[in-house]
Amino acid sequence: MTGRLFIKIYFLLLLACFITQPAFAINFKHNEIDYDMTVRIDPIARTIEGKSIITINRSKKLTLVLGQGYEVTQALFNGFALGSGREHADQLHAWHIPPDLNQQHQLEIHWRGKLAQLNTSLDHSQTLARPIAVSGEAGTFLPDASDWYPRIMNELARYKVKLELPAGQRGLVAGRLIEERESAQGYQAIFEFPFAAEGIDLMAGPYVVETQTHQSIKSRPIQLRTYFHPQISNLSRGYLDAVKRYLAMYETWIGEYPYSEFSIVSSPTPTGFGMPTLTYLGINVLQLPFIRDISLGHEVLHNWWGNGVYPDYRRGNWSEGLTTFMADYAYKEQESSEAAHEMRLGWLRDFAALQLDQDAPLTAFTSRTHSASKIVGYNKAAMLFFMLRDYLGEAIFYRAIQGLWSTQRFKITSWQHLQKIFEMVSGQNLQPFFAQWLERTGAPSITISEARSNPAGSGYELSLTLRQSTPTYQLRVPIAIQSQERTETHWFDLYKDQQTFVLTLSDQPLSVSLDPDLRLFRQLALGEAPPILREVMVNPATETMVLSDKDEVRKIAETLASKLQQRSPKIIAAEQQPFAVPTLIIGLQPEIDAWLAARNLPSTPDEIRAKGTAQVWTLARASGASLAIVSAQNAASLEALIRPLPHYGRQSYIAFDDRHAIEKGIWPMQVQPVKVE
Ligand SMILES: [Zn+2]
Repeated sequence: MTGRLFIKIYFLLLLACFITQPAFAINFKHNEIDYDMTVRIDPIARTIEGKSIITINRSKKLTLVLGQGYEVTQALFNGFALGSGREHADQLHAWHIPPDLNQQHQLEIHWRGKLAQLNTSLDHSQTLARPIAVSGEAGTFLPDASDWYPRIMNELARYKVKLELPAGQRGLVAGRLIEERESAQGYQAIFEFPFAAEGIDLMAGPYVVETQTHQSIKSRPIQLRTYFHPQISNLSRGYLDAVKRYLAMYETWIGEYPYSEFSIVSSPTPTGFGMPTLTYLGINVLQLPFIRDISLGHEVLHNWWGNGVYPDYRRGNWSEGLTTFMADYAYKEQESSEAAHEMRLGWLRDFAALQLDQDAPLTAFTSRTHSASKIVGYNKAAMLFFMLRDYLGEAIFYRAIQGLWSTQRFKITSWQHLQKIFEMVSGQNLQPFFAQWLERTGAPSITISEARSNPAGSGYELSLTLRQSTPTYQLRVPIAIQSQERTETHWFDLYKDQQTFVLTLSDQPLSVSLDPDLRLFRQLALGEAPPILREVMVNPATETMVLSDKDEVRKIAETLASKLQQRSPKIIAAEQQPFAVPTLIIGLQPEIDAWLAARNLPSTPDEIRAKGTAQVWTLARASGASLAIVSAQNAASLEALIRPLPHYGRQSYIAFDDRHAIEKGIWPMQVQPVKVE
């Protein structure tokens, strides 16, 4: 089916995990509030009926709330009847509980209501934007933020939930399954979450459940389950095996998995959520191979970071950065150093493309709401942990990670807590490091302004001057020093805007390169990053040239350009010299070949030459403005690019066979060595 490729790319761009996040800061005082709930849901009638007994052992003024769409049929406070908690039907139910030093309070609330219709056409961001309790035969999702049950505001709580569903349906909440019963009358299950939790999300559907047992690092059995819709039940085995691998890996790195279960639950909408003990992913999403290999590991790791150690959202969410570093990025390091390098390059390149007003300090990041916040909240934070590991060394870094886990489990934890743990374990003052990467926007721009060498004794003396933009950062700058025989990396402590370093070497240094391995979060130098297609997509100055006289081809080319640039393209005449700004050149193969030859530009690169029906590639030029060339066999193969091509912005070259990309890649990075004088 032709739409498949398109859908796949769409998710690739869209899907990053979201861990459920409270809408406000939570006071940390655990084990003092308990919910004991029974909930009956009929997904066909879309009704919910619930009863909750809330026990409070806290002397503090508290507020209990329930969403406005529900009717309260009974409310008791220490056995005495209470009102419905509101005056008008369009209000949230809210009950204020007075502080009392001497008494345990108990509230009992009975409620019922109608759930919204499940709408499977909503995408992930729409689902996120509207935390609404939805139900239908294909699935029920009651997100905590929809206020579907009576809960104490701003407080962590333990819970026990008894869930009742009609026959054929199964459901769950995060926690341990302690009892389960199924009969012709229906399905019942009791779940218990014995730790201080941020909230309760409930899921149900016509699930087929598969189970496996995993032994934790301390030989405790952990129940792994898939709650999959029947059409994807064949994927269960692969997912369960993958979860076992991830659990074993993270237990070795961090410490024992905190829970007694982990479930992967399919959703009829294309979402991606991570909650303690489970992940909730769209049916279509689960069918993509990279989900099992990357996203699932990220979600599993959130049981440690995010749903195990809770971020202090008021002061910046560190959990996405640490999870990205220890999942997405770690898998790249396991693959190869080239793959890891490519990921860091992607982070720096994305950051460089941010508009000034899109940048924000890491302390301001709470959760991902748009792609710009991912560039800082996920990527810059992941790079912070990468630099911290470089700075402290792997052994100390991972000892601190284990310390973070053993001391902060189920506690609200800020960046400052993290800093303290890393300082305690390493014995170093990390205040400048954390302050500059957390509180500042932007990134340092660093250059080698001079490199000279003179014979000295039996070797050579190298004098190296480094500069950085102001206000300055405290940096350890890696410099690769190339001699005839070898390349060696030396680290320099740069904290002024200009510093000269002198070092003695046995071999004559010929050239030096600044951070060729991209180990610092910094501004990329002009031309340092290989050109990718996105430049002609996002740069508003981009001009488009169509190399054809045929009306049909011109029309398709203009549509393609407007889809790529999401605006009407600036079309320039074919005779014009496209040198000042990024330029998109579109044509059929003979015309493209002739045009390149006439300008002494390199012909179609070997990587994609004669592959498929159309080739697209970027060409760097000395002026800095790059070209992107689209060369198609005929009008039909050009037209076939209109839908898929905009999804390949991160690539330098792609070959398409009709609508399918059959080859793609990024040009190698241009390291720019400075000659030693
Ligand atoms: Zn995440």
